[in-house]
Amino acid sequence: VSPRLRPLVAGNWKMHGLREALPEIAKTCAAAAGGGAGEAELVICPPATLIMAAAAICEGSPVAIGGQDCHSAPSGPFTGDISAEMLKDAGASYVILGHSERRSGHNEGDESVREKACAAFRAGLTAIVCVGETKAEREAGEALPTVGAQLTGSIPNSSASEGLVIAYEPVWAIGTGLTPTPHDIAEMHRFIRARINDHLPGQGDKIRILYGGSVKPDNAAELMAVDDVDGFLVGGGSLTFKDFMAIAG
Ligand code: PGA
Repeated sequence: VSPRLRPLVAGNWKMHGLREALPEIAKTCAAAAGGGAGEAELVICPPATLIMAAAAICEGSPVAIGGQDCHSAPSGPFTGDISAEMLKDAGASYVILGHSERRSGHNEGDESVREKACAAFRAGLTAIVCVGETKAEREAGEALPTVGAQLTGSIPNSSASEGLVIAYEPVWAIGTGLTPTPHDIAEMHRFIRARINDHLPGQGDKIRILYGGSVKPDNAAELMAVDDVDGFLVGGGSLTFKDFMAIAG
C-alpha cells in the first residue's frame, strides 16, 4: 500500500450542460470552500463551451476546472479542435485524455493519447490519462495486460510526467451501474502503480490513480477505502452539485 496521496475527485460532464447548469458549479465552489469535500481536491470538466465561465466562477475557490480532451499541437489548421494552450488560456488547469468514449468514438490510440499528454504538460495542465479494459477483455482474463499496455503506451516519459494522474475506468462500468469488486479494483490499481514505477522510476507513489465507472453517492465511501484508490473520475454522478459533493465528501 502506497502512502496516502491527497484524493482527487474529478467530474466529467461529457456532452452535458448548457449555461443554465453553471449554478451547479457555483454551489460546488461554495460547498468546497465550506469544507464539504473533506480532504479531497475537486475538479469539474464541463463541456468546452462552459470552461471560461466555469473558471471565472471558480476563481479563488478550491475547485479547479478541466477540459475533456485536447489536440497535441499548440495551434494550427485543425478545424474543431482545441489545444492544451487554449484550455489553459480559458482558465482550465486539468484535462482528461484518452477517455474510452474518445478512444472508441474518435479512434484515439495510445500514441495519440501520449502526444496529448505531452501537450498538456507543455501547456502547464495536469493530464488525467484514462485506461480500462472492455467486458470481453476482462472475461478473457486479459484485463491486466490490456490495461498495462494502454498505460505504458499512453503516458509520457519522465520529463513530461510531473503531476500526471491516471484514471482506471473499465469500459463496462461506465454509465452502466456496474462496478468491479473492491478486490478487482485493488488488484488493478496495485498493478498500475507497479507499472508506473517500472516506466517512470520513483513516480509510482506520487501519481494519483483514480477509479471511474458508476461511482455514485451510495458506493463512493466503499470505493474510496479500497487500497491504492486515490480518488474518482465521475460521470453521471458529477452533474448535480448534490451528488458530486456526496461522492467527494
Ligand atoms: P459514469 O462515467 O460515472 O457515468 O459511469 C464515468 C466516466 O465516463 O468518466
